[in-house]
Amino acid sequence: RPATLGDRLAGLLGRTGPRAVQAVTRVDLQVAPGEVLGLVGESGCGKSTLGRIVAGIYEPSEGAVLFQGAPVMSGGRKRTFRVQMIHQDPFASLDPRMRVGDTVAEGPLAHGLVKRAGADAFVADMLARVGLDPALRRRYPHQFSGGQRQRVAIARALALGPELLVLDEPVASLDVSIQAQVLNLFSDLRRELGLTGLFISHDLGVVRHVSDRVAIMYLGRIVELAPMRTLYSTPAHPYTRALLDSVPKLGRGRGAFRPIAGEIPSPLNPPPGCHFHPRCPHAGPRCRVEAPKLIPVLPGQTAACHLHDTGVSDA
Ligand code: SF4
Ligand code: MG
Repeated sequence: RPATLGDRLAGLLGRTGPRAVQAVTRVDLQVAPGEVLGLVGESGCGKSTLGRIVAGIYEPSEGAVLFQGAPVMSGGRKRTFRVQMIHQDPFASLDPRMRVGDTVAEGPLAHGLVKRAGADAFVADMLARVGLDPALRRRYPHQFSGGQRQRVAIARALALGPELLVLDEPVASLDVSIQAQVLNLFSDLRRELGLTGLFISHDLGVVRHVSDRVAIMYLGRIVELAPMRTLYSTPAHPYTRALLDSVPKLGRGRGAFRPIAGEIPSPLNPPPGCHFHPRCPHAGPRCRVEAPKLIPVLPGQTAACHLHDTGVSDA
């Protein structure tokens, strides 16, 4: 069992770099060793951008992501291979011209974690760990199903002995039956390896099964952060409540699905004050001018909403 995070991951992030599509502002998150933090929001809210910043793919223009006390990135370069990312599209991390066994071995060989002579056995072990027949190591990515490809991508990340995994919608492009298998695999690996994770999804139902705590993101800001149980039993932010209402309930049929009212504004030109005010049923004058800060609601739970402060009307 590899060591888990010796320190906490702390991110104080400013606006993202020039190549980033979405703006992410003033996010301050910590993930404890062995914990999985879910990050949930509608598409375009900036959660993938935040994931890429945490994984050392984008550099924040202000602030830093600290992993075990040191920046994941500095001077435009990623500083640790112990932070790895799994993408929604596994093709993004697999070279189509490389046999998957070579893809899995590439990083560990480059970092001297395994010797050339032991690489074959190492790859076989990694593939078995993610539930793939080691004989498949001579095949190419296009010869696998979507679910198998995602397993290969997970094996490739695990081969580097990561202590923090950033998973960006890892099951969103898979069939529902395959989704459950990949989520179960992740839960098993987490138990065996003591992984720490940031699990990104637009789907609260998916995150629920794999996360200890969850951060809800709206237009580049974290609007609520809470232990999973607390979030479900007593959601504090109107956006969280709307998200929970929009999750289809088992056995209640299609009629139970209620999409959230209103259009999602552009994250690059968000509404002033509370970004959620044009869609919020509780919005008052104060919400249109003053951005709410994250404040404590229940133990471990914070929310950015004036309802939990001094109200919505004293603009
Ligand atoms: Fe709604 Fe106002 Fe709370 Fe924003 S601050 S979520 S607009 S009540
Ligand atoms: Mg995304």
